[in-house]
This record gives sequence, C-alpha cells and structure tokens, in this order.
Amino acid sequence: MNDQNCIFCRIASGERPARVIYEDDRCLAFHDTNPQAPMHVLVIPRAHIASLSEMKETDEAALGRLMLVAATVAHEQGLDESGFRTVINTGREAGQSVFHIHAHVLGGRRLSWPPG
Ligand code: AMP
Repeated sequence: MNDQNCIFCRIASGERPARVIYEDDRCLAFHDTNPQAPMHVLVIPRAHIASLSEMKETDEAALGRLMLVAATVAHEQGLDESGFRTVINTGREAGQSVFHIHAHVLGGRRLSWPPG
C-alpha cells in the first residue's frame, strides 16, 4: 500500500527525485538530503509502514530485507572495516520526522555514543 501524501512513497514510485544508490522490488536506498556524516543513506521499504511501532507480523520479511539492504549498501560504500551505524528513529521524541519507516545508514567518521 502506498500513501500519496508520503514523501518517501513518492520517492519509491519515482514521482519525486532522489539520489538513489540501490533499489529492488521491495526496498530503495538513497542519499539523505541533510547528511549527518560523510556517508548518510536512507533505506526504505517500498510499502508504506509508518514506523516501527506500526510494524505488523506480515511486515517481518520487508523489514528483514531492509536491514540486509542497509548492510549491502554499507559494504558497497566501503564501510565494512571502519564501521557504520544503522538507526531507526521511532516517534517524534526520538527524532522521527518522516512517517514512512527508514533505516539511516551513517558512516565515514567516528560516531559518538550515546546518541543525543
Ligand atoms: P527521521 O528524522 O529519522 O524521520 O529522518 C528523516 C530523514 O529524511 C532526515 O534525515 C531528512 O534529512 C531526510 N529527508 C527528508 N526528505 C528527504 C528527501 N526528499 N530526500 C532525502 N532525504 C530526505
């Protein structure tokens, strides 16, 4: 299911531009327009799932695929050795601003912990 009011659904359908670096029938990865690290990519499922809180049993394969694609993208960007971080913000207090689930993949610099 897609939501016409959702910016990431519109990117997934090709209606809105993005710097896409990976796509298959279930997922898409593209550069974040406001990068927080030298490598900052978002991985989304094509299907509209608003957040991790909205995940259903039937979404299990799609979100497993999402993490596999995140690792593939990090590998292709040469981040296996230095490391990378995958983040899924869930809800406004946690920093979620786009309500179509996405994994941030960040790397290319030392990342501090705990996050702010
Ligand atoms: P979050 O705050 O976790 O929901 O992350 C949303 C991310 O989407 C932010 O890092 C934004 O910079 C990014 N973003 C918003 N609109 C776009 C867009 N059209 N193309 C690429 N990244 C976007």
